[in-house]
Amino acid sequence: MQLAPSEIWFVCGSQHLYGPGPLKQVAANARAVAAALDDSPHIPVKIVFKALLTTPDEITQLCLDANADPKCAGLVLWMHTFSPSKMWIRGLTLLKKPFCHLHTQFNRDLPWGTIDMDFMNLNQAAHGDREAGFLHTRLRLGRKVVVGHWSDAEVQQRLGAWVRVARAWHDWQGARFARFGDNMRQVAVTEGDKVAAEIRFGFATNGYGIGDLVAKIKTISEKSVDALCAEYADRYTVARELRKGGARHGALRDGARAELGIRAFLVDGGFNGFTTTFEDLHGLTQLPGLACQRLMADGYGFGAEGDWKTAALLRAMKVIGDGLPGGTSFMEDYTYHLSPKGHQVLGAHMLEICPSIAATKPSLEIHPLGIGGKEDPVRLVFDAPAGPALNASLIDLGSRFRLIVNEVTAVKTPQLPKLPVARAVWECRPDFKTACAAWIYAGGAHHTGYSYSVTTEHLEDFAEIAGIELAVIDGDTKLRDFKTGLRQSDLYYALAQGLRV
Ligand code: MN
Repeated sequence: MQLAPSEIWFVCGSQHLYGPGPLKQVAANARAVAAALDDSPHIPVKIVFKALLTTPDEITQLCLDANADPKCAGLVLWMHTFSPSKMWIRGLTLLKKPFCHLHTQFNRDLPWGTIDMDFMNLNQAAHGDREAGFLHTRLRLGRKVVVGHWSDAEVQQRLGAWVRVARAWHDWQGARFARFGDNMRQVAVTEGDKVAAEIRFGFATNGYGIGDLVAKIKTISEKSVDALCAEYADRYTVARELRKGGARHGALRDGARAELGIRAFLVDGGFNGFTTTFEDLHGLTQLPGLACQRLMADGYGFGAEGDWKTAALLRAMKVIGDGLPGGTSFMEDYTYHLSPKGHQVLGAHMLEICPSIAATKPSLEIHPLGIGGKEDPVRLVFDAPAGPALNASLIDLGSRFRLIVNEVTAVKTPQLPKLPVARAVWECRPDFKTACAAWIYAGGAHHTGYSYSVTTEHLEDFAEIAGIELAVIDGDTKLRDFKTGLRQSDLYYALAQGLRV
């Protein structure tokens, strides 16, 4: 994936009460912790020791520097010793980057036989971080608190999860999403307030004429189309009729041309994702299916039927999961298996499922499509693998956004010889009836980001940074409590957010 360079600043708080000797030791210890975290295989972004901060002016300046540095995706704060928190008010009030509060201690085991007051005074995070936590809470600052020794793999994993999320949030700031055509007519859940989204999330969504895209597609050379068709032949099982010399090879070339044209449009405009709609295909020969599938696999966010919120969410999920096992795709709850032996969801779309979730070598095929009024589109057909996964949906409730997550267990896909699209089959947690009712009460969309690599912890961290509600449907969900939680959140966000959206 093409990601802008980013780093996380490691910042240690203290004060001058301790004298220069101990402060030197504190700085050396903080450097060692930052270096160990930077080396951790669980943390995919560079961790840079930035400063030992001991005065309000130093703290304020560091926060301003963090805001201004385009590489800084977030801060890890740790109070090795006691750092009186009023010193942090001015800086943290100005800070615009997300932060994670690492509640750790340099020393791991207490040396019971030799412990003296010097030792006690050097290892004070137990109360220093409580003083910090009070101020973070007093300022109502969203943050993640990670607790435990810094060498503990679980601590590094939790910090690593947040780092991934901070990088995705960083990627959203100033990101651009292109809409080819508007929303599918009359559809509600894919609509939303793009101004509110840009204020809240930092990305811009704008529309582009389908004619401009068609003009770009027309500039693609036959040589480039040849080369891409050869790549298809390398990577996929291409249907005989689509191969060179086959009766419908022209349709494959149209698909390749569309992919190259959309890709060029996105690269030229610096876009991180896009939407299409089958209701606006003027000048295109077929609904772009293969193109959307392959662009998603390269990390672009995508939403069908003008669904820009899902396109942006999918991009964020792709960045979060980058380098982790298991892929992430645009998805739609398509149809149900309601057997008394177990209820399941068959997820698919008309065409646009990302091959990053393919369990098997995708097959490149052509079939009729009843909607859109265009020629038959080419598409990749495959099964998604069994295993733990989740669906996530970002909705606009009018005055605010809500992120809904359902943990699911994907199962082996049955033989589906007549189904000409990519698909996944899953079982919902805690059970089908509870999960679907909760999803519907929460207002979750039929479109989702579906992932084997992104976890609920990631999305919890993401919602925290964004300052939006997270509604999780998992193995512990009880419907009555879930409904109560939604009502309480309505009230909380109305009060906490006030008139700002
Ligand atoms: Mn759809």
